[in-house]
Amino acid sequence: MNTIYPVKTGTTLGHLIVLVTKRNLNKEEKTFNHITMAKFIFVTGGVTSSLGKGIIAASLAKLLQSRGLRATIQKFDPYINVDPGTLNPYEHGECFVTEDGAETDLDLGHYERFLNIYTSQANNVTTGRIYQTVINKEREGAYLGKTVQVIPHITDEIKRRMLLLGEDDKYDVVITEIGGTVGDIEGLPFIEAVRQLQWELPEEDCLVVHLTLIPYLKAAKELKTKPTQHSVRLLSENGVHPDILVCRTEEPLNDEIKRKIAQFCNVKQEAVIESVDASTIYEVPMMMLREKLDIITLKKMNITSYHEPELNRWKVFLDKLKYPKSKVTIGLIGKYIELQDAYKSILESFIHAGAMNECKVQVVNVHSEFIDDENVAEKLDGLDGLLVAPGFGFRGIEGKITAVKYARERDLPFFGICLGMQMAVIEYGRNILGLAEAHSTEMDPETQHPVINMMEEQKKIKAMGGTMRLGAFPCEIKKGSLAAEIYDSTLISERHRHRYEFNNDYLEQYENAGMIASGLNPETGLVEIIELSTHPFFIGVQYHPELKSTVEAPAPLFVHFIAAAKNYNEKRATARNPVLHSEMI
Ligand code: GLN
Repeated sequence: MNTIYPVKTGTTLGHLIVLVTKRNLNKEEKTFNHITMAKFIFVTGGVTSSLGKGIIAASLAKLLQSRGLRATIQKFDPYINVDPGTLNPYEHGECFVTEDGAETDLDLGHYERFLNIYTSQANNVTTGRIYQTVINKEREGAYLGKTVQVIPHITDEIKRRMLLLGEDDKYDVVITEIGGTVGDIEGLPFIEAVRQLQWELPEEDCLVVHLTLIPYLKAAKELKTKPTQHSVRLLSENGVHPDILVCRTEEPLNDEIKRKIAQFCNVKQEAVIESVDASTIYEVPMMMLREKLDIITLKKMNITSYHEPELNRWKVFLDKLKYPKSKVTIGLIGKYIELQDAYKSILESFIHAGAMNECKVQVVNVHSEFIDDENVAEKLDGLDGLLVAPGFGFRGIEGKITAVKYARERDLPFFGICLGMQMAVIEYGRNILGLAEAHSTEMDPETQHPVINMMEEQKKIKAMGGTMRLGAFPCEIKKGSLAAEIYDSTLISERHRHRYEFNNDYLEQYENAGMIASGLNPETGLVEIIELSTHPFFIGVQYHPELKSTVEAPAPLFVHFIAAAKNYNEKRATARNPVLHSEMI
């Protein structure tokens, strides 16, 4: 659909007409004319990748939310994959899963953790998805014989999706993070869509925040503004003019530098925001508050109805995070440990749970591929808890099974997530039930004892991408179980991403031997939680509790796991030095 706007905005008269129009149009008319009551902020990045656009977008959204505005964030990624579901974690880090089962970019995890709201399928769009929609429409004859082109057809579809969350009056502000760096060939249609929207929307309804780098040259002892100037010029060559520049820097920017950036980049000096390196990403909203990023945004968008920022819970969390009273060491047993982003949500959940326990959580990465019976004691020595990570495929699983056995036999707190739970089931089958061949059919399709089996509905699926058991499902918890105590509830909902499950043909055998299924899906009977009643903390979950942990609502399983690790640590300390410990008490 082509955009038909009453007038070119930017003029006072134009504004007036648009605002009057905005109030009077019905929903169809608003959609047709790209008119919504929401305001739109676009966050672009320049100079280099990894500057933290997601964190800046999430911090700005947090500040606006703290002032009473309803804010959401979405990510537009320029790659051709329809979604990141088929990407190897080494390529793109963790695949985040939303409530409605979308496999998305890990930045959506940050958005949820900061804002404490759910995102959805609509919050992550890729070039692949845009083209897929346009090509499907072309095949249906929707373009009436026209030549289908990047402009206007692809850019129209990008714009439609950019504005989508602004419909329905659910949000006052929709922030769109554009993945990649300005100047990337594949990002051009997204930047062009922003250009068109900057022109089409009322001036005060559209804001562009550009994140850049101000490097410090040690040899010259100087901060350099040239890369930022080039990056803004590149953006301007594409027709987009930034309203605010957020400058990542290792050193504070003095007024002179800010003035220089403002002058060369054609923004007001107050719109040059400094973002120095922070000790934790959770500090960034407070830093942006000090830099008045929210105030300048409100001013530029002419938002007048807001209150003082309410960030008390956030500040309490930050204080606990910065001044812990104890420390535990947790082993993260996985096969993608070279790349920290592969386990992003798990690592962030540890941070939330640690703060809740006023305890610093030091995570030690242990590569599961290199754990064996001979070295396991040495590799896992000194740990207060063991988390066996999710994953796919054969590599590293025997090391995971060995690690589970080690934790089970030593009363070391154990927490298995998805594949981690499946490994705990295999370990128990092999070493306690005497099923020497126990395995998952994912790794050994011919196994004599398929204690982990492909889910029935998965067997007929051939296509990859979006075809696993995905998203939120309910789970009924057995009264009196450790899980019921942890959740303080007997009905929960958690997010999933898997194809295999506990094979219920073996359930009775397992329960008789002490491993109980304390959580089941109420409709299908799929086992969602296993635990050992004879162990202080041994729990495995088929779902991903890390996907729902936020600063303001840490995942209960992580909170209790860290509490169990603290207990274990104290017991170890007493055992090492009983006299000293009794004196301390
Ligand atoms: N590979 C396992 C399955 O598909 C576990 C998946 C996971 O850990 N997310 O069931």
